[in-house]
Amino acid sequence: MTTRFRALLLTGCCLALLQSTVAETVLTGAAFAALLEEARSPASVEAILRWRRHLHTIPELFFEEFNTSAYVRQQLDELGIPYTYPLGITGIRAGPIGAAEGPVIALRADMDGLPITEELDLPYKSTTRGRMHACGHDGHMAMLLGAARLLKAREASLPGRVVLLFQPAEEGLGGARRLIAEGALEGVEAIHGVHVMPSMPAGTIGTRPSTIMAASDRFAVTVRGLGGHGALPHTTRDPVLAASAVVMALQAIVSRETSPIDSAVVTVSRINTGPGAANVIPESVELVGTIRALTAPTFERLHTRLEQVAAGVAAAYGCTAENVTWSAVPYPPTQNEAAMAALVLDVASGLLQGGQGGEGDEGQGGAGPGRAVVVEPMMAAEDFSFYGPAVKQAAFTFLGTGDPALGTDAGLHTPRFALDETQLPLGAALQAGVALEWLQRRAGGQAGAEAGGAEAEAGARDEL
Ligand SMILES: [Zn+2]
Ligand SMILES: [Zn+2]
Repeated sequence: MTTRFRALLLTGCCLALLQSTVAETVLTGAAFAALLEEARSPASVEAILRWRRHLHTIPELFFEEFNTSAYVRQQLDELGIPYTYPLGITGIRAGPIGAAEGPVIALRADMDGLPITEELDLPYKSTTRGRMHACGHDGHMAMLLGAARLLKAREASLPGRVVLLFQPAEEGLGGARRLIAEGALEGVEAIHGVHVMPSMPAGTIGTRPSTIMAASDRFAVTVRGLGGHGALPHTTRDPVLAASAVVMALQAIVSRETSPIDSAVVTVSRINTGPGAANVIPESVELVGTIRALTAPTFERLHTRLEQVAAGVAAAYGCTAENVTWSAVPYPPTQNEAAMAALVLDVASGLLQGGQGGEGDEGQGGAGPGRAVVVEPMMAAEDFSFYGPAVKQAAFTFLGTGDPALGTDAGLHTPRFALDETQLPLGAALQAGVALEWLQRRAGGQAGAEAGGAEAEAGARDEL
């Protein structure tokens, strides 16, 4: 089965509108309508909001998600879903939901919060100063629990199995990698993850049949010279001047050495001279920043050239570039597998059009514009990228939650980030729908055929 879609327009925004027909899915329009209706039922909405709001009050940092994990496990107990714990210190592999045997698809949510102090005065705001779910991972967990509820209700008819991965440490330390190393993907043939996206209109579902997010690494480099009195610069080797020149020269790696078609970023975000008087030239300056690229070769070249340029330019000023350090866990590019992404778009279209005669694109229940879209790749990164090389049929999807009227369009990782909770049931239905459709296609041999074709075409694969 191939997915046919037409990009309708690209008018200054990053979204190409998608038109896809429900008829291309194994699940019927009625099945999608029923799934979404059930996800939006009072009992489902009450549970999803209760889960999300409680989790929002208890944000924890990477590999410290003990209370978060305990709460998720408690909900799994109440849903009657078994689990393996711990994986990756706080991670959970729940399930399987479904048949005793058969193909396995994994659905993933991340669990960690951020070292940010929440500014909005919500009734369920973070109870810990300096900790905040500012990337929506609380919503991801609630959606996955919501999907679990939907799938559990259909357990007897599933032609295979669904496992749920609640992973730690997405924000920089590669919790996904740790989970994989500890066997979380055993038997898994396909995997899907969803991220809320305030820069996309609420109710929009977007993914991409290739690289969707960038590779990411972070660097620090010390430019060392010879300090002295600011009135006697000729007796010093000024590391501030040298570091300034390094910052400028690093910009040429992207603007002069990288094809304009090949997206890359070199950002120096901090210049640290340490404490000192205004008339004292310091001994050294530390530069800190990040590099991003959409392909592995460009990513590798950015690493090499950053070190070469820093050393060469520092030397021209009589200084040295020392102690270059990189992240413990650089994130590779997030590369969606084409057939899996097509399946996700089919399911998104089915959910958003289901029950409306198939041609409407106004969405369901007035919860946003309701469009399935192919998105442009973005230079943020995600550790979902580690799953792709381990599970070929991997796709990562964005759920639009931006609504200026609700004030939910503030960026991820900002202290005023707020989630449009009304989209969470749609996200739960999407996760469940992807699993149901994949299992149906797999049972009919269609997913296998698609996966084989994509495999023959190309093999392929940080943090928001
Ligand atoms: Zn995130
Ligand atoms: Zn994030």
